[in-house]
Amino acid sequence: MNIGQEVLELLKEEITEMEYKRYIQHLTYDSKKSSSSHAIYYAPNALVITWIKNKYALKLEHLFEVKSGAKVSVEISLKNKVDRRKAKKQAETPKTTNSLLNPSHSFDNFMVGGSNKFAYTAVKSVSENAGKVYNPLFIYGGVGLGKTHLMQAAGNVYQNEGKVVIYTTVEQFLNDFLHHLRNKTMERFQEKYRSCDVLLIDDIQFLSNKEGIQEEFFHTFEALKGAGKQIILTADKHPKKIGGLEKRLQSRFEWGLVADIQPPELETKIAIIEKKCEINKVKLSKDIINYIATVIDSNVREIEGILSKLHAYSQLMHVDIDLDFTKNVLKDQMNEKRATIDMDSIVQTVAKDLNIKPSEIKSKGRSKNIVYARRISIYICRELTQNTMPQLAQYFGMKDHTAISHTIKKINDLIEQDEDFRVKIKELTNKITSMSE
Ligand code: ADP
Ligand code: MG
Repeated sequence: MNIGQEVLELLKEEITEMEYKRYIQHLTYDSKKSSSSHAIYYAPNALVITWIKNKYALKLEHLFEVKSGAKVSVEISLKNKVDRRKAKKQAETPKTTNSLLNPSHSFDNFMVGGSNKFAYTAVKSVSENAGKVYNPLFIYGGVGLGKTHLMQAAGNVYQNEGKVVIYTTVEQFLNDFLHHLRNKTMERFQEKYRSCDVLLIDDIQFLSNKEGIQEEFFHTFEALKGAGKQIILTADKHPKKIGGLEKRLQSRFEWGLVADIQPPELETKIAIIEKKCEINKVKLSKDIINYIATVIDSNVREIEGILSKLHAYSQLMHVDIDLDFTKNVLKDQMNEKRATIDMDSIVQTVAKDLNIKPSEIKSKGRSKNIVYARRISIYICRELTQNTMPQLAQYFGMKDHTAISHTIKKINDLIEQDEDFRVKIKELTNKITSMSE
């Protein structure tokens, strides 16, 4: 037996059998690459690595020292890249990319609470009275809060009644438009969108500053509305706040009913998780459900990602899902998310939102709005990336890390004092993290 294995045997005596079976047993020691001061183990997936690094690394180093009498650093690496990709693939939630309605987006599967009751009731009533009550119905709210789900739930009801339903995103609508424009078949485009019974257009905010398609959409809207056909629209903000929209469109968006969806409160989150577990046949105990609901603050899509990851990992590793396991999967998820976000895209998003140039944020400019944008960017970079304070200082051209920590403190104070500001930061953060998904 080599020293690496002997150390694992020692560790086995110090931990429970379950812990051993679950994590330590999966480790293999690389006696070729290890040296008297550096020990290398391989683990089957990223989760086991995180877990062992957090919980056993120090113990392992200590045991090495006991065994060999010398200081040894312990490294845990991935066994091979294929495993990681496999785990990741299994853990990914399927994304619907075509314009078909997702049948599982039903009213029955939608959990209602204070945060979404208004929108739910509005969509439900429109689904029962097409073209008669609120037309258009405009639903707005943050990322992953159920806008598409609700809109498609109505779509499914209509479709089951035999109505012709078109569900499309602005992007698809635009592509379709360009396609027909190129092929000189605009009548077919117009015929298609003006002859349906119900038009559902998702993420209307992307019409912003696209004049040509706004014009075309305006005529589609008029034709459908005039014929008493139902229109449902969603966006990430209220029509008034979208910006870059023709006045006549903006006012029409408010003709019917504008309903918002707010982030779910704890109880609703718990209900949603329970529902998703039921649908996906995942068994979770009450304390795990509570834990997930408390840690993930609002994005329901993120909750779904975690459930499928938990499920995939537990199958991969043949273990039950307990609280410690869940905590590690969540940690892993956060790290993965951070790894995919870079500072350039944060600066770009903040700059766009505040209507200044990204280069200004990174300049030495001292005007009020530039300093404001720079501070927000720094704060978000600190929150969402793994860059250290000195790295941030270098990136933003600041003197040193104390300037960064000063900025972060300022923003934290503002967040505490000013509710609007807190919401603003949250919105920006959501936007950035959802872009990286
Ligand atoms: P949005 O369009 O607002 O970004 P989605 O409608 O795509 O969000 O919702 C993201 C995911 O969360 C979907 O899979 C949806 O089924 C789920 N979801 C959101 N809200 C609820 C809810 N109240 N009950 C059940 N599932 C929900
Ligand atoms: Mg959506």
